Amino acid sequence: MIPLAEPTLSGNEGRYLQECIDSGYVSSVGPFVERFERGFAAVVGSRHAIACASGTAALHVALRLAGAHVGRMVAVSDFTFIASANAVAYTGADLLLVDSEPRTWNMNTELLRDEVVRRAHHGRPIPDIIEVVHVLGHPVDMEPLLELRDSYWIEIVEDAAESLGASWTAGELAGSQVGTAGKLGCFSFNGNKLITSGGGGMITTDDDAMAAEARHLINQAKMAGPGYIHDTVGYNYRLSNLAAAIGTAQVECLAERLRAKWAIAARYAEALRWLPLTLAPHAEWAHPSYWLYSVLIDDAGIDPDGVVEAARSDGVQLRRLWPPLHRQRPYRRVDRIGGEIADDIYRRGVSLPSSAHLSEGDQKAVTASLAAHIGSSRGHRDTA
Ligand SMILES: *Cc1c(COP(=O)(O)O)cnc(C)c1O
Repeated sequence: MIPLAEPTLSGNEGRYLQECIDSGYVSSVGPFVERFERGFAAVVGSRHAIACASGTAALHVALRLAGAHVGRMVAVSDFTFIASANAVAYTGADLLLVDSEPRTWNMNTELLRDEVVRRAHHGRPIPDIIEVVHVLGHPVDMEPLLELRDSYWIEIVEDAAESLGASWTAGELAGSQVGTAGKLGCFSFNGNKLITSGGGGMITTDDDAMAAEARHLINQAKMAGPGYIHDTVGYNYRLSNLAAAIGTAQVECLAERLRAKWAIAARYAEALRWLPLTLAPHAEWAHPSYWLYSVLIDDAGIDPDGVVEAARSDGVQLRRLWPPLHRQRPYRRVDRIGGEIADDIYRRGVSLPSSAHLSEGDQKAVTASLAAHIGSSRGHRDTA
């Protein structure tokens, strides 16, 4: 089976793990945690990076630091992995789901801006926080959000779990990477992400006080000094030295991984261009990371589930994209702006095998399988 996304462990992972075992530092105290944080902050371009137990934990803490709690409103992309919304729900804040825009599949930030302006004009409640998700490796169009931040003091938290290494190439944010545009950025090192620590996350921020508070919260809000004195309800969200050792080795290979993802994307774009597909987004103002190369099936006569099943029998693992949050049981009744584009992306979307070490031969097998099932079912329908 050619898997959808599996980790590439070809660097110093084993050596660093052995160092942990030899030194006895396997838990949350140990030199690799700081090394991982420093290395990560350097590649992303943020002042601080705080390692934690998962991407979801990173989001939970970041949202709390941005002021999310009962009675507050957080705007979230409707089309995203459910962890983005769960982290908001943990804080007790209300969600406002925002539809996607067709060009990048990300939150339609102009739609949100216009809605906030309208609500403010009518004296209706507006979001206190925007949690913006850079889905599948493509940066969000941030300019409308920066306007909202400046006009209405809305805090921005970035869920950059899927887009490490992606950046903006034009406008106010030109040259910056995702995770550095908001007050706080969040990343994941789950096994299927661009780099992994076997599970883990990172919070990035340029704000010294927030960085200190994040460290405090992930360590049970334990006060400095001897004894068990805690000033608030914290969390056990620390990352282990073992996980950080793997993460440190992975950061060393980040540039190489990004190059591999670009090569995979270019080959898919070339091989699939004649099929009835919308290829993975690439806006002219963005440098995507192509974390998980995904396409939309343009032919309404082709059932994505059928394509996934047929590819499986060829030994190729495809996966459908996420149902929008407004279709997930916990979030069916929450407030939302639109949702039709998110529905359409879900209805037509499929992700393709995208492991950084995917061989050219395996990739040819993927594109041949797609051509057989998407090309032929179309031929079938056309002649019917
Ligand atoms: C993976 C992911 C997360 C959660 O990360 P974990 O490390 O699995 O907790 C959050 N948001 C998005 C968009 C993700 O893809």
